[in-house]
Amino acid sequence: MLILMAVNATEEQIAEACRRVEELGYRPHPLPGATRTAIGITGNNGAVEADVLSQLPGVDEVIAVSKPYKLASRDVKREDTIVRFPNSEATIGGAELAIMAGPCGVESRDQLFRAAEAVANSGARFLRGGAFKPRTSPYAFQGLGEEGLELLAAAREAFGLLVVTEAVDHISLALIDQYADMIQIGARNMQNFAMLKLAGQTRKPVLLKRGMSATLDELLMAAEYVMSEGNYNVVLCERGIRTFADHTRNTLDVGIIPSAKRLTHLPIIVDPSHAAGKRDNVVPLARAGVAAGADGLIVEVHCDPDRALSDGAQSLYPAQFDAMMQNMRGIASLVGRTMVAPRTVRSGATR
Ligand code: PEP
Ligand code: MN
Repeated sequence: MLILMAVNATEEQIAEACRRVEELGYRPHPLPGATRTAIGITGNNGAVEADVLSQLPGVDEVIAVSKPYKLASRDVKREDTIVRFPNSEATIGGAELAIMAGPCGVESRDQLFRAAEAVANSGARFLRGGAFKPRTSPYAFQGLGEEGLELLAAAREAFGLLVVTEAVDHISLALIDQYADMIQIGARNMQNFAMLKLAGQTRKPVLLKRGMSATLDELLMAAEYVMSEGNYNVVLCERGIRTFADHTRNTLDVGIIPSAKRLTHLPIIVDPSHAAGKRDNVVPLARAGVAAGADGLIVEVHCDPDRALSDGAQSLYPAQFDAMMQNMRGIASLVGRTMVAPRTVRSGATR
């Protein structure tokens, strides 16, 4: 169910409607729009007492939402969600393409700082890098853990970047909430519902990667888990899915971008690195993602990829990333998007 407040509804009327929803035993989710506020209602199993609510002052209409995902649906919020960050001009879902780049995993201070400096200079606003790595083999590099988070936080201060890094369980999630600007939930955990709820209880934006065999509906239901806990800043990420095609690591499903845009107001970005699996395929897939309407990219970059402890084969050299960014400026302008100007960042620069 959804309450649509009138265009001229007052703050008090919105608060009163929320209070009445709570009184009925449900959870209200006020979602301010460009012209009016909608209040999503969750926790009800059947028809909520629509009559009572529709009579309240300032309420325009009470409507049923037929989709299984409510808060993620365009039916509940027509305008695109724009995710913002405290003390930063970075946005995700607005006109500017959100560019996240950095190594697959944080390996050392030197490795991270070299990559961070390079991607910042090429115009990325976000630094990626896993401190906790979900690996197929238990014997593969598992990440530096909290030490990796400390390095990410240091790189953020040094280069004026926002940090996005992956949580693999409730312990890493709590740590990442303290250290990072954005919590990544990886493909392997897209349906870890307990973790999705915990991410929903934080107030950090969540980057939710599509599971390897997840449908768009399942991805949106996963986003709904986060939002149902009151965290509305969810960014979806297409990172390639498993298909019979074995010429690339995964198959980039470009078609999910326009489909997602129709069904949800949440931003969607593309990870061409995990889709490609090899670096020569990364840039063409990045181009395709942005051309199809993605709100940004998350790309793996490493200064010495042959020695990378994970995903070296798909990591771009900094010069390739820089060329990709130049390339992307042309595509961005064709699809009505902007990109931040490249800059020269020195240690101590601010965001
Ligand atoms: C990653 O971003 O390094 C990663 C593990 O991605 P995914 O969850 O998409 O495999
Ligand atoms: Mn990786």
